[in-house]
Amino acid sequence: MKYAIVIPDGCADEPQDSLGGKTPLQAAHKPNMDRLARVGIVGRANNVPASLTPASDVATLSLFGYDPLEVYTGRAPLETAAMGLNLGPEDWAIRCNLVTVENEKMRDFTAGHINNADGRGLILDVQEKLGGPAGDGGRLEFHPGVSYRNILIYRAAGKPPFTVQTRTQPPHDIPDQPIAGHLPQGPGSDLLQGLMQRSREVLGAHPVNQARRQRGERPATQIWLWGQGRAPHMRPFAEVYGKGGAIISAVDLVRGVGILLGWTRIDVPGATGYLDTDFAAKGRYAVEALQKHDLVCVHVEAPDEASHEGKADAKVRALEEIDRHIVGPLVEALPKYGDWRIFVSPDHRTPLRTRAHAHGAVPFVLAGTGINPAGQAAYDEMVAAASPLVFDRGHELMRRFLE
Ligand SMILES: [Zn+2]
Repeated sequence: MKYAIVIPDGCADEPQDSLGGKTPLQAAHKPNMDRLARVGIVGRANNVPASLTPASDVATLSLFGYDPLEVYTGRAPLETAAMGLNLGPEDWAIRCNLVTVENEKMRDFTAGHINNADGRGLILDVQEKLGGPAGDGGRLEFHPGVSYRNILIYRAAGKPPFTVQTRTQPPHDIPDQPIAGHLPQGPGSDLLQGLMQRSREVLGAHPVNQARRQRGERPATQIWLWGQGRAPHMRPFAEVYGKGGAIISAVDLVRGVGILLGWTRIDVPGATGYLDTDFAAKGRYAVEALQKHDLVCVHVEAPDEASHEGKADAKVRALEEIDRHIVGPLVEALPKYGDWRIFVSPDHRTPLRTRAHAHGAVPFVLAGTGINPAGQAAYDEMVAAASPLVFDRGHELMRRFLE
């Protein structure tokens, strides 16, 4: 049996006035996903336990069949794994966004989707000025990642200053809001707040930012620290579920979860993690990966990014591209290997109304060998809401998919 998983990140939404009262999934022309709904089952699953923040880190663990309440330690350690960086047992990884704060408000959690070269230059200077001894025996390492997504590692010498009580705020969840009420709190927050404050001096008049302003691009005015955690302990997917897997994603976080499960990471040229990603290339690589792997998972960030930007039409377009260039080719290729199954589901909801991630069930469609049709007409939130197939603990869906 061959298995494929397609994740349109954050696609689950609400009816939109601008889409004639339809959700983006309903408004999108997506013949392949709708055909899967007719030959398979549409249901809904909750991938984010109420006590955890709704985001791709927690929700991806659920989608891949792991209980976040058992294995989740924070977002940054997952990304750190994808970047090939190792964490010692007492070390902490912390996400270090480059952001644009204007008039003390979070104007842009991506610093204008800063390009890799600019981001790297800024983070290397942050490392030079703020990296090194943390003052408590530990050491600080700033590592450049992709675009605005960088990592700070706290290498512990004695007892680290952070605990599970340390609270930080994802910057994408406070668009255009004053930052004052959202700074780190709890154990170790002095260190984090101090670094964020001091980064303003390092970055404020930086030549990279001056050039960005001149080009009309948003400057990275400071770093924003969040998503901290220690290295998670996860049993390999092959041990838990008996299948080998491969992950295709432009997002370090999602790749990192795959890598920690023991999946093969497949890099696709032209995959950007943004609206301009090369959907067709992802589809081609996914089809090719079926030759070697039992299970191939393709994650596409574009619908989530469209939601964060409040663009309903871009969200619809991203879903149509995913349907045409990824779901379509996979559904065509899978039966060539004999028995097969496919599963399409977002990780979490990202309503256009709030432009932020949200708790709540997401619609999924499951189809293939041995799955009897449930008589549903389309893949969308309304069909899912009426479905009797519900997984309140989203990670239990993986077993149903593979059985
Ligand atoms: Zn998001």
